[in-house]
Amino acid sequence: MTPFEAAITQAMNNLPLESAHIRALLEADLDELLYHTNRIRQRYHHDYVTLCSIINARSGRCSEDCAFCAQSAHHRAQITEYALRPAAELIRLTRGADERPITHVGLVTSGRAAVRGRERTELLKAVRTLTPQLRAKLCLSLGIVDDALLRELRALGVQRLHHNLETSRRFFPQICTTHSYDERVENVRRILAHGFEACSGGLFGLGETWDDRVALATTLRELGVQSVPLNFLMAIPGTPLEHMPPLAPREILRIVALFRCILPRADVKVAGGRPLLRDLQPLIFYAGATSMMIGDYLTRPGRDVNADLQMIVDLGLRTRRPWVE
Ligand code: SF4
Repeated sequence: MTPFEAAITQAMNNLPLESAHIRALLEADLDELLYHTNRIRQRYHHDYVTLCSIINARSGRCSEDCAFCAQSAHHRAQITEYALRPAAELIRLTRGADERPITHVGLVTSGRAAVRGRERTELLKAVRTLTPQLRAKLCLSLGIVDDALLRELRALGVQRLHHNLETSRRFFPQICTTHSYDERVENVRRILAHGFEACSGGLFGLGETWDDRVALATTLRELGVQSVPLNFLMAIPGTPLEHMPPLAPREILRIVALFRCILPRADVKVAGGRPLLRDLQPLIFYAGATSMMIGDYLTRPGRDVNADLQMIVDLGLRTRRPWVE
């Protein structure tokens, strides 16, 4: 058996990959790799895909210095900034997103730490109203969350929280100096320990190596996260990474394929930066993706939602609809 065949067999059986397997995947012909990652996707996920949309609940003014992020107060990106939206507005926007055939709707707040004081009250008010009403499940992305807040959210019926690791432990200090990788890892551990599903992934095209990408995927597998969003940098003027060249579509597909092989059971989601794929967007499912973010991103408009839904139908895939399962 060649190292490539061994790698595919390991992935097909949800077994960990050794370095020889990884090397074989990275050197494989892309067309051949995509044939196999499509099979791995079908084995664990059949024809189902999940879709999510996000709402920027609090924008900008962040104390942290993540080099890619338009919302950091350290950079000079031109974005609309606002404190946490009032509960009534969060409810209205979330209900609007819930009209789409999505599985999760995410409320995302900028900033290192979860909401406090009046903002916390408003957020919990919105969550209390929304959780019994929504067809989609609520996913909250609140930065570093403490045990008390996690207990409250659990009691309100929230099932999923999001917090990206972004990249590898080795590379992280080159993109952020105001908090540590361990803080992010511990946050994901805390989320899982409280019984939530964790949505945690990363961002690519920051100058990281393939070893960094492998290390991120391996860490996420070890943590046992259920959902893995993959984002691809669309450099934002005014951020330190504003001059980073975009990743080529075929490199993005190989990243998706790598994550499918290391995390066969996870819901691998193509999130920010999908437009970089241009006309190769449908190939994400052959690379092993099982999920997409639809609608607008945090600080940029997204692709037409109807075009995305049509693409899924044309591929013969089905959207998971949690409210009928
Ligand atoms: S902590 Fe989050 S919002 Fe703040 S700069 Fe980093 S990525 Fe952006």
